[in-house]
Amino acid sequence: MSELIGKRALVTGASRGIGAAIAQALADKGADVAITYAGSADRAAEVVKVIEAKGRKAFAIQADSADPTAVKRSVDEAVGALGGLDILVNNAGIILYNLIADIAVDEIDAMLSVNVRSPILAAQAAIPYLQAGGRIVSIGSAGVDRIVGEPGSVYYMTKAALQAFTRGLARELGPRDITVNLVQPGSTNTDMNPADGESAEWQRSLMPLGRYGEGADVAAAVTFYASPAAKHITGTILNVDGGLNT
Ligand code: NDP
Repeated sequence: MSELIGKRALVTGASRGIGAAIAQALADKGADVAITYAGSADRAAEVVKVIEAKGRKAFAIQADSADPTAVKRSVDEAVGALGGLDILVNNAGIILYNLIADIAVDEIDAMLSVNVRSPILAAQAAIPYLQAGGRIVSIGSAGVDRIVGEPGSVYYMTKAALQAFTRGLARELGPRDITVNLVQPGSTNTDMNPADGESAEWQRSLMPLGRYGEGADVAAAVTFYASPAAKHITGTILNVDGGLNT
């Protein structure tokens, strides 16, 4: 339970949902954790309190992932607060469902900025700080491999970009003994995709396990990738999707 003691992690978009679960799970394994959030200062403060109650250090940093300057600043602030960085988790993401016929340029740009550009910039800012044994884990979507809902084309396209990014960066950072992996959640019960939402029954019907995942299910995959046991695993994709892609 203590394999991450002494490790320092930054989780983007962790005031709620999957990110909050990842931040707490990393702390459960012993890591000190900085989180970013966009607008939910109160929710971020709650996550910090929960982590501190586990006896770990925690810091919340307001940083809009759509803003390149804020992304760089958040990494620098996390390093300053934690005294270094060993694990970066690119979790922040947004979904704006629309058909290609209707989607607006600002919707496309918003998803590209947060879902694609921000993981690149966060990694770029983090890489100089990461030592041998460092970890980068990004959160994609299992819907990339089985499109779930036609209005999701652009969202899934942004998440598909993380597959190539993960493989490319794994090659780039392998010689420094830094691993890079991708976790692809399926339907997971959060504000983004509530288990009692309009299309929830339909989503359940697509999965052999027939149920929504919880943030903790995704977090378990992330903490595995972050652990010493996963030191020889890089450039891989792990679906946490209730079997959606079987
Ligand atoms: P939620 O919408 O429930 O939570 C999103 C989190 O990201 C919040 O903490 C939010 O902060 C933060 N965030 C959103 N936009 C920004 C931004 N511009 N800058 C900084 N932080 C931001 O999402 P989930 O927890 O469901 O999703 C987490 C990740 O998992 C996303 O990448 C999503 O695409 C992916 N995913 C989710 C699935 C699901 O079924 N839930 C399925 C597949 C993938 P704040 O509270 O301040 O707004």
